[in-house]
Amino acid sequence: MSYGIRKDFYHSKVWNQVRKNIWLKQNLLCNRCGLPVYVDGLSDYLPKEKRRIGIVHHKIYLDNENVYDDNIALNEDNLEGICLTCHNQEHFRTNGTRNNYMFDDGGNLICK
Ligand SMILES: [Zn+2]
Ligand SMILES: [Zn+2]
Repeated sequence: MSYGIRKDFYHSKVWNQVRKNIWLKQNLLCNRCGLPVYVDGLSDYLPKEKRRIGIVHHKIYLDNENVYDDNIALNEDNLEGICLTCHNQEHFRTNGTRNNYMFDDGGNLICK
């Protein structure tokens, strides 16, 4: 099963750091619709009802091989911080499977 490997990737310190960098660069705003997103530890000021889930999306989708390629998996040029709504649109437009989702330690929905 490759699932465990990917899970390790999303739980890694380096991914967490890269993910936070993306959100800080984007000022915690969705790159597509421009609405503020909630990122654990970064946007606690947001009132609960305004907390949209923020997801760092891989423009080149991750798979079992390129997850090991830092130029894809950790390259900020391949990453885009977007809200759950926009993320759904992205993935349902291409392949409407929910298998692309999982939760990280902070309970955030993230993209495989
Ligand atoms: Zn959005
Ligand atoms: Zn995605």
